[in-house]
Amino acid sequence: MANDNLTAILYGINDIRLEQTPVEEPDENEVLIQMGCVGICGSDVHYWVNGRIGDFVVRQPMIIGHEASGVVVKLGKNVTNLKVGDRVAIEPGVSCRLCNYCKEGRYNLCKKMVFCATPPVHGNLRRFYKHAADFCFKLPEHVSLPEGALLEPLSVGVHACKRANIGIGSKVLILGAGPIGLVSLLVAKAMGANKIVITDLEQNRLDLAKKLGANVTLLMKKKDTEAETVQRVIEAMGEEPDKTIDACGAESTIRLAILATRPGGVAVLVGMGAPEVKIPLIHALVREVDIRGVFRYANDYADALELLASRKIDVKPLITHNYKIEETVKAFETSKSGQGNVVKVMIHCN
Ligand SMILES: [Zn+2]
Ligand SMILES: [Zn+2]
Repeated sequence: MANDNLTAILYGINDIRLEQTPVEEPDENEVLIQMGCVGICGSDVHYWVNGRIGDFVVRQPMIIGHEASGVVVKLGKNVTNLKVGDRVAIEPGVSCRLCNYCKEGRYNLCKKMVFCATPPVHGNLRRFYKHAADFCFKLPEHVSLPEGALLEPLSVGVHACKRANIGIGSKVLILGAGPIGLVSLLVAKAMGANKIVITDLEQNRLDLAKKLGANVTLLMKKKDTEAETVQRVIEAMGEEPDKTIDACGAESTIRLAILATRPGGVAVLVGMGAPEVKIPLIHALVREVDIRGVFRYANDYADALELLASRKIDVKPLITHNYKIEETVKAFETSKSGQGNVVKVMIHCN
């Protein structure tokens, strides 16, 4: 078994190949993991379709995958926080732990971050993978490996809601009901938001959002003017939202986030789109709407795990499709097509 290390390698645009790679030996502070599940992320599909995201370009073959969980099969000699047989969620970005960003707890901003499947760093869609033991989170018995893999997007939702200061009584507008919009919805509810309005262009995603606890869902229509859309949001909420999470990254949703958020509120931007967009900045300035970026997560995995372990949140409805690692290309095609009401595609590695 240990000599079968089937691995999904992205060679370039529309070119993922399954090949054997050597099983790596864990360093002294690492563990070797028999991979369980790897979820496909929008960013993985983006690298597959476009070969790049912004300045991150796939210049040489790169192992894909970063939303992952597995079982510890070997310990580096200094590892004391885990045992062989532990089931773990893998936080895919390992920071330097030494710089000021790391020391102040904002390690997602570390300039030496090594993050799975962000070129040139290899990801973990393979049968065996080694990782820093302090970035592995032991799953309690009742949390499954697919749920463990979903800790990755869930941590983005936790980070976004923390950045928005969501709490008891918050009125939250979420733009986009894809995986990140949906996990933000789950976390905002768990943090005590008292009303959540979520928007999308597709009714089936809104139906799922409704099941997951959104108070109001709004189907966006491309023909509506911006002023009409702002009005629809405020009517749905009953007042202006005090927190808005943009999980799309489109110019229209970033503009809506700024225009709809109440004076003194917070608009957080999670969705990544075009590097430059035109926004009505003066509306943020004169109404003191704080615009905050959200990049991945920092110190959020443990909180996300607590939300799952305590059953305050159920992420399982997000998993709409399951494939074996041998079917990786098919899994990517499903994720890209958006057909069959796809939300999260999960790949099983063993
Ligand atoms: Zn992801
Ligand atoms: Zn650092």
